[in-house]
Amino acid sequence: MSRGKAQRSSQLDMFHKADPIVGIEIHLPRHCRCGHDMLHIGPSSGPHRASLQCARCGCHCGWLSNEIANFLSAVITHFGRPTAPIYVRVPRKVL
Ligand SMILES: [Zn+2]
Repeated sequence: MSRGKAQRSSQLDMFHKADPIVGIEIHLPRHCRCGHDMLHIGPSSGPHRASLQCARCGCHCGWLSNEIANFLSAVITHFGRPTAPIYVRVPRKVL
């Protein structure tokens, strides 16, 4: 694990206790500017429930909606944290 990745992982670990969805990996069909397609759910900021950060470069890649964050929280409450990345599929016209 690279030093930057280890540092980001450590920072995300700090937020696990605060919000159970932080740190979950999400695979999106849309790629980060660096070309990577795996994101981490990051902490909230201002009015936003959670951020999406590239798992490779740490770049901000968008926000997670309240609806999706609440759904993921409910799933975690019932089944526990996912052990594998969540794969998101969207209709072709959305891309
Ligand atoms: Zn990236």
